[in-house]
Amino acid sequence: MAKASVVVPEQVGAAAAAAQVGCPCPGTTLFPYPPPRAGIAVRRKCLQAAQQLELGAGLRGGWVESMRASSPTHAKAAAALAAGVDEEHAAWMARHPSALGEFEKVVAASKGKQIVMFLDYDGTLSPIVDDPDAAFMSETMRMAVRSVAKHFPTAIVSGRCRDKVFEFVKLAELYYAGSHGMDIKGPASRHAAAKSPPHNKGVLFQPASEFLPMIEQVHDRLEQATRSIPGAKVENNKFCVSVHFRCVDEKSWGALAETVRRVVREFPRLRLSQGRMVFEVRPTIKWDKGKALEFLLDSLGFADCSDVLPVYIGDDRTDEDAFKVNKYLYY
Ligand SMILES: [Mg+2]
Repeated sequence: MAKASVVVPEQVGAAAAAAQVGCPCPGTTLFPYPPPRAGIAVRRKCLQAAQQLELGAGLRGGWVESMRASSPTHAKAAAALAAGVDEEHAAWMARHPSALGEFEKVVAASKGKQIVMFLDYDGTLSPIVDDPDAAFMSETMRMAVRSVAKHFPTAIVSGRCRDKVFEFVKLAELYYAGSHGMDIKGPASRHAAAKSPPHNKGVLFQPASEFLPMIEQVHDRLEQATRSIPGAKVENNKFCVSVHFRCVDEKSWGALAETVRRVVREFPRLRLSQGRMVFEVRPTIKWDKGKALEFLLDSLGFADCSDVLPVYIGDDRTDEDAFKVNKYLYY
């Protein structure tokens, strides 16, 4: 079990974590929205199309296809699942069983080990909503995360600006890794800091500091360039920029993709990728959520330790960078 990869279905994964430490709100739902997962075929299509986008190989039609594939609506995702579980999906599920279905094994694997929790924010702790500024987490979820953090070191790892994530989560006892892990800070509360190892107090790491002026520039350029496309929203995440298209009419997706790509080409040290209903513009440095996970484990004194069990729960392509280095439990 120690080296097995266990997949925790979206949202249920966080419930598993909460259940392990005893959710303070039995009988209440942590997830007031329907599971939005697409089937494995949709996911594979998304990865292929997104890779095309990053390589700049797609024409306008290819970009739109990529945007559709990586941004399934809840209805489309439900339809994909309802269409039936094909053999490939069944085989994949056999290799990656639900952590809730295997929960006894999860508990057994954690015996004698220090669990460290890593949690994505959007789509994991909060619902995906039309307005990214309104992606609030429920009080029930906040209580669950607080409960988890009482027992295990807990970090929020998000593509958002660290300050914005903190505004949403409002828990001073957590570690926060914003901007896809490029902005890391330790617990702010005196109580949590007192429990942290001496070498770990106020850990702060910003490997992309030199890109700050460039990020400001590309943010301003993108805002200006996308102003004529209704619904497009450009978000400055400090060390990276997001262009949300969840409120853009699908007829305008091609124009938006072309516009964003044209602007990013002006900045050869930045790269463009795509997530769920969002374009991401990031520095080309070799740093991602996986590197952030390793950095935090190292900061906590768990580098190369065999008695640590990191658990990472996330729902986006960028989380897969963390899954690659986190060989134990993941979604
Ligand atoms: Mg997410």
